Amino acid sequence: MSDTIQRFLFEHAPVRGEIVHLEKTWREVLDRHAYPPPVRALLGDMMAAAALLIATLKFGGTLIMQIQGTGPVKLLVVECTSDHHMRATAKWSEVPPTGDLAALVGDGKFAITLDAGKGAPGYQGVVALEGANVAAALEQYMQRSEQIETRLWLTTGEDCAAGLLLQKLPAADSADDDTWRRATLLAASLTPQELVAHGAPELLHRLYSAEDIRLFKPRPVEFHCTCSRARVVSMLQMLGRAETESIIAERGEVEVCCEFCNQPYRFDRAESAALFTPAAIQSTRH
Ligand SMILES: [Zn+2]
Repeated sequence: MSDTIQRFLFEHAPVRGEIVHLEKTWREVLDRHAYPPPVRALLGDMMAAAALLIATLKFGGTLIMQIQGTGPVKLLVVECTSDHHMRATAKWSEVPPTGDLAALVGDGKFAITLDAGKGAPGYQGVVALEGANVAAALEQYMQRSEQIETRLWLTTGEDCAAGLLLQKLPAADSADDDTWRRATLLAASLTPQELVAHGAPELLHRLYSAEDIRLFKPRPVEFHCTCSRARVVSMLQMLGRAETESIIAERGEVEVCCEFCNQPYRFDRAESAALFTPAAIQSTRH
């Protein structure tokens, strides 16, 4: 099964959904850092959730989903563009082998940022982290900040992160409530193994064979990191000449690793001196 996200809707009720499967994208994230198992599980769930959520938005840009906490897991960040290019990273210390979201993250915040890029006005919503898992936290978020009834089922295995989202669209009347209830009850009967093992057509057939469902074309999802040497250059220029020179004096070179993809960017003595010539600073600013 390739990495895809696929939309569906109920033909006769204002209920829609998305199904996502991530294998290669997920593997690319895991290959870049040695995440402890509970951190992997949280990141996988968040990647599936971010891909599902941006698919429901009329928005061009990057969705940044972030969980910040006071527990052993300090930070989880997942970014997904409207073209479904994704990257993810986490910060942690001494993570216990198991534990639910609250135990791992402690007092936390759940934030979603929509970055339209090119200096365009963005959007950020932040709520207190609630719920035993990422799906519950995001459902809470959607209820509070968007007032859109949304249900999610997420699961992360060794080789795959997968998710199913259902959303009740506005203008639903009471007859539609029955469809919504039935749709969510049936989705809740899915096991994590089924969610990981089957593609969208098979899952929808298992769940909703009695309903009239329209399934849209699958769209590809892939890992992509936006880091570059030029970005590291402007970061070092912001850090300043004195700070950069002190790193050179201490280590003989400056090495900056991308926190998402772990790509190292190295600057030797001559290269780092060249960052601070007036011409170099001028060319980065313009
Ligand atoms: Zn990178």
